[in-house]
Amino acid sequence: MPTEAAKRQLMTLVHDHPTAGHPERDETIRKASQTHNWTGMCQWISNYVKGCANCQQNKIITHRKKTPLYRITTAQNTLLFRQIAMDLITGLPMQRGYNAILTIVDHGCSRAAIFLPCTDTITGPGIAKLYLDHIYRWFGLLLHSICKLTDCPSERINGWSNICDS
Ligand SMILES: [Zn+2]
Repeated sequence: MPTEAAKRQLMTLVHDHPTAGHPERDETIRKASQTHNWTGMCQWISNYVKGCANCQQNKIITHRKKTPLYRITTAQNTLLFRQIAMDLITGLPMQRGYNAILTIVDHGCSRAAIFLPCTDTITGPGIAKLYLDHIYRWFGLLLHSICKLTDCPSERINGWSNICDS
């Protein structure tokens, strides 16, 4: 019979850890029983999962078994590229007039990513134009965008926000 501390440690491994991704009760029991077995184990784990704040929070949003490493909540019927995260990869050698890549990742259901060549001097309007040309045309206007362009000059963000607002 493992101690409470040992049980909790096991839960950290098979349930709480980002790579475990807060699986449902049955999956948590299945994983735990690969290495452990004690009297009342199913009930104990069932209670643990029921009491897991993270699971309670996510249950409403999705029934997906695996949780990504970091979660951005989306409505279940979110369309492709309605909620996105953008990042700019800079410091690349100049090639055909481009030395940066704008990445746009869908944070809805698909997790699809689009990579667009651009330059590291790109500003908000330029990013918005790339977005309009490559995403909007196919996927419609975004509901939310999460700008991760932290090291950018502020006009880059501002230009983009203006387009978002308009
Ligand atoms: Zn959980």
